Amino acid sequence: MAHIYLASPHMSAEGYEQEYIKEAFDTNWIAPLGKNVNEFEKELASYVGASDAAALSSGTSAIHLALKAAGVRQGDVVICQDLTFSATVNPVAYEKAVPVFVDSDYETWDMSPEALEDALKKYPNAKAVMPVHLYGNPANMERIMEICGRYGVPVIEDAAESLGTIYHGKYTGTFGDYGAFSFNGNKIITTSGGGMLVCNLEEEKAKERIAKVRFWATQAREPARHYEHKEIGYNYRMSNILAGIGRGQMKVLEQRVEQKRKIFAYYQEYLGDLEGISFMPVHENERANCWLSVIQIAEDCPVKPLDVMVALEQGDVESRPVWKPMHLQPVFAGCDYIDHGGVAETLFNRGVCLPSDTKMTEEDLERVCGIIRRLWA
Ligand SMILES: *Cc1c(COP(=O)(O)O)cnc(C)c1O
Repeated sequence: MAHIYLASPHMSAEGYEQEYIKEAFDTNWIAPLGKNVNEFEKELASYVGASDAAALSSGTSAIHLALKAAGVRQGDVVICQDLTFSATVNPVAYEKAVPVFVDSDYETWDMSPEALEDALKKYPNAKAVMPVHLYGNPANMERIMEICGRYGVPVIEDAAESLGTIYHGKYTGTFGDYGAFSFNGNKIITTSGGGMLVCNLEEEKAKERIAKVRFWATQAREPARHYEHKEIGYNYRMSNILAGIGRGQMKVLEQRVEQKRKIFAYYQEYLGDLEGISFMPVHENERANCWLSVIQIAEDCPVKPLDVMVALEQGDVESRPVWKPMHLQPVFAGCDYIDHGGVAETLFNRGVCLPSDTKMTEEDLERVCGIIRRLWA
């Protein structure tokens, strides 16, 4: 029996990625930059409906440069979703800014608009707000944008997990001033490692900001024959080889979204009757990409999340707890946290991320559900 992964790279059956890489080899455009980078940026921007995009070395670097583009500086408050991966918040620390964590709600598992409002009342001069579309499930962007608009604070969407998610008829990552995507190996599409930043301001301004991001990402080299620097730069650009993988992956993105959604529907159908199990709140009028399928187990259920994870591990199946909230992370001890009934903590304590690998067969899904069902038998 083969090992079942949580989420692993899934290249196209057609070999599109290798064709783009071969073209880069044939023309010796291994680095720097090149046609694949330019085209990948255009393809992603046009897919999500943004005017321009910058291809970067990771989702983390995309978030970092979004913070810089939004004007976040040392000592500034940045309001962050509490329930997330640390990569959302680390770039805030790179800039020596101050993260303030905001709890989630049960309707979205993402940033609670009420708690955000409380945070902005307390920190009206916050320089940015960072909601996350966790597990591909969209945050309540309608209310978050309305609240942030009133306070005049820029929004940076961490859409690392939600490429392909449609909310209110638009792709996530295109509601805030900036949207950051990731192509890390476990994400819905991958370049082995990489990221992309889009800017959703008015077109001319957006193009200008993205150009600035590309400038910072290539060591902030001033346009001069010699090496001239007026600002601190970064080595954050995506290579032309990896962008070739990205272009190939874009061709199967819609297919991957459908596969991920089918996996989620399968779990709902075959585990939904188990007492005490509930699912992440995927709303019918939205198209969540269902990057990971996540369940919650009620506190009074005799089967505990750890029992599920251990049983799956013994069956050679990978699973994970839900992200540990940032306000509970030792590295962020001392940061302020705006509570909304301890939702993030509850989800961490009761949640299990089930394998959501798009290479899984129906037999694999049957095997996973069988292991879980036996715990309830
Ligand atoms: C993966 C991820 C990131 C970081 O992306 P990398 O490409 O791995 O740097 C940021 N935020 C969230 C929520 C993620 O899941």
